[in-house]
Amino acid sequence: MTREIMQVTPLPTFMMNMLQEEDYIVHDHTHIIDPGALSKVTALVGTGVSKVDKKLLSMLPNVKLIALCSVGYDGIDLVAAKEKGIVVTHTPGVLTDDVADLAFGLVLSMGRRIPQADRFVRNGDWVSDLFPLTHKVSGATLGIVGMGRIGQAIAKRAVAFDMRISYTSRDVKSELPYTFHSTVEALAEAVDYLVVAVPGGDDTKNLIGASVLQALGARGVLINIARGSVVNQPVLVQALKDKTIAGAALDVFWDEPIVDPELRRLPNVVLTPHIASATEETRRAMAALTMDNLRAFYAKQALPTPVPECR
Ligand code: NAP
Repeated sequence: MTREIMQVTPLPTFMMNMLQEEDYIVHDHTHIIDPGALSKVTALVGTGVSKVDKKLLSMLPNVKLIALCSVGYDGIDLVAAKEKGIVVTHTPGVLTDDVADLAFGLVLSMGRRIPQADRFVRNGDWVSDLFPLTHKVSGATLGIVGMGRIGQAIAKRAVAFDMRISYTSRDVKSELPYTFHSTVEALAEAVDYLVVAVPGGDDTKNLIGASVLQALGARGVLINIARGSVVNQPVLVQALKDKTIAGAALDVFWDEPIVDPELRRLPNVVLTPHIASATEETRRAMAALTMDNLRAFYAKQALPTPVPECR
């Protein structure tokens, strides 16, 4: 099998170097120079923002692997891929700590208003004013939507802050010492901070909508480090404007990297540019695991980390 692959998103330079060192021929789907390339490509590679639909796959008759450098794979048409006998791999586990760290950083940023306090000092406001009192994070209640790898790592951090932790996911995790709620609404009603850590895709689209935000209430804060699609963004913007919730910290958005100007103007939000796994160490570990999957595929060995649907 030819080791000709196609990148469906930009890749970090160190990953391009790894591919070059191992003699892969890399085509870029936005700049196809060789017209015959489409039939030579046997694997696709991309990051978490990869969009691979039925139409793209129909143009690539010999692709048998989609190796993602991310844990989320909501941009891949899995039904179309499986119909064509294509296996999808991802990079679970190696990014869990980073994503949980950022989630917790956002909890602290919201509770103690750290970004606003920074602006207060920089703007010289401290000379004539005192920064308003904030809210205590230690001992507050935290709700986690999606108690998987990342959800559990967030809970671990919250334990160190003496937070009272509850969660919802598809199944009760009886081995965990946290309170389970069977609906997101019931969870939202019980907590100060609601952190979203479920996968994106059709099953979770707009999972956080009007009823959840209403249950979260005027003192509640939403944190989303999952996918933009999980939160009904216009409904969230309205809730923030009306102050029916206290605030939101978002690492992911609808239509990112374009962020709704209304959202950018709001004072009660903290916004980060989809950076939850974006550390030097973790992005290298993700690239290494993606390379392991590619290598195993071309060596006809068992793939290290296929997505659950392809196991
Ligand atoms: P995971 O281990 O598969 O955990 C996902 C959890 O979500 C599981 O507990 C699952 O429940 C739960 N879940 C799935 N569908 C649900 C639904 N409809 N309602 C309630 N709970 C549901 O995945 P992970 O490694 O923790 O990653 C989670 C997600 O984080 C990824 O899919 C990705 O989208 C996102 N992420 C974002 C960034 C970023 O840069 N912002 C970085 C990495 C990951 P069960 O356990 O009961 O099945």
